[in-house]
Amino acid sequence: MSFKALVVRKEGDDKPIAAVEQISEDQLPDGNVTVAVEFSTVNYKDGLCIGPGGGLVRNYPHVPGIDMAGVVEASDDDRYKHGDRVVLNGWRVGEAHWGGYSQKARVKADWLVPLPDGITTRQAMAVGTAGYTSMLSVIALEKHGIKDGPVLVTGAAGGVGSVATAILSNLGHEVAAVTGRPETEDYLRGLGATQIVAREEINETVKRPLETEAWGGCIDAVGGEMLARVLGQMKYGASVAAVGLAGGANLPATVIPFLLRGVNLLGIDSVMRPYDDRVEAWSRIATDLPMEKLEAMVQPATLSDLPDLGRAILKGQIKGRVVVDVNA
Ligand code: NDP
Repeated sequence: MSFKALVVRKEGDDKPIAAVEQISEDQLPDGNVTVAVEFSTVNYKDGLCIGPGGGLVRNYPHVPGIDMAGVVEASDDDRYKHGDRVVLNGWRVGEAHWGGYSQKARVKADWLVPLPDGITTRQAMAVGTAGYTSMLSVIALEKHGIKDGPVLVTGAAGGVGSVATAILSNLGHEVAAVTGRPETEDYLRGLGATQIVAREEINETVKRPLETEAWGGCIDAVGGEMLARVLGQMKYGASVAAVGLAGGANLPATVIPFLLRGVNLLGIDSVMRPYDDRVEAWSRIATDLPMEKLEAMVQPATLSDLPDLGRAILKGQIKGRVVVDVNA
């Protein structure tokens, strides 16, 4: 029986081409659990994998999709049985192993997490890797102590930023949302942001190593100049969870905020997380993220929309989260 998948093919030095194809189970990679995928999503890395590759895809043909939620169809592993609802993020699925842009996926049981009660497969992918990483960031900030004052979220209208804003606000924190898109103000306030900060306000401040202490914590999806400026604006002893590099990989910062303000820079990696961390993050998502706010972030899509959406996310043009119904 064949089924649909978005397959990226590349011939020689030509650019990769992505198209929806019918494939069969014997083409799927090795693994001990077969998942009937229901939903996937569009993350920044997916944009890289659908498009020029960015060094992430090693072998073609390739099925991208770094996350998926669905139902176990067959399993050789005692931890999972037919009909279990599961979610998968990371483990280089969608990069080195065929991913979620397919009606079926074959993966290692070790990479899966049972989906907690109270969250549907669609909601799990509205959260997706971006939102899951936001939850990991919130947990990391809590472990290091969130100081008084607003928590800054950069790249706020994007996937990581939108979910981070909703979770932090639901937990009772004031949230200052940094965006380069002023037209998203109503959307961000709807997610719970109490303050909107224009991107230039952070990036174009006087470039001193230390500025006025402003933020009790920060979730940064942007990196680059933005992260460098934010470090000098943190309150004494506050922490920055560094998630992404949508604004660049270079960090033109000094050590002064670390030495004179005791600022903590916490690197957040969602790819190789131990099982217990993944279970904790997904159970906190089910309890701490208001599902009605999540719905406000969702843009629905199908497999055939993905080539355009991959290009859009690399340009920072996606608002919130894209949910891909692979069966639509
Ligand atoms: P999105 O594209 O949805 O959001 C990124 C946001 O960053 C944009 O919406 C925009 O926000 C802002 N932005 C984009 N370009 C720039 C720029 N040049 N300068 C300043 N701000 C910019 O991506 P995601 O939220 O899904 O991912 C964000 C980052 O996090 C990516 O780098 C991604 O790879 C990384 N990531 C890392 C993970 C990990 O495990 N560490 C897991 C998931 C994601 P606005 O329009 O509001 O200004």
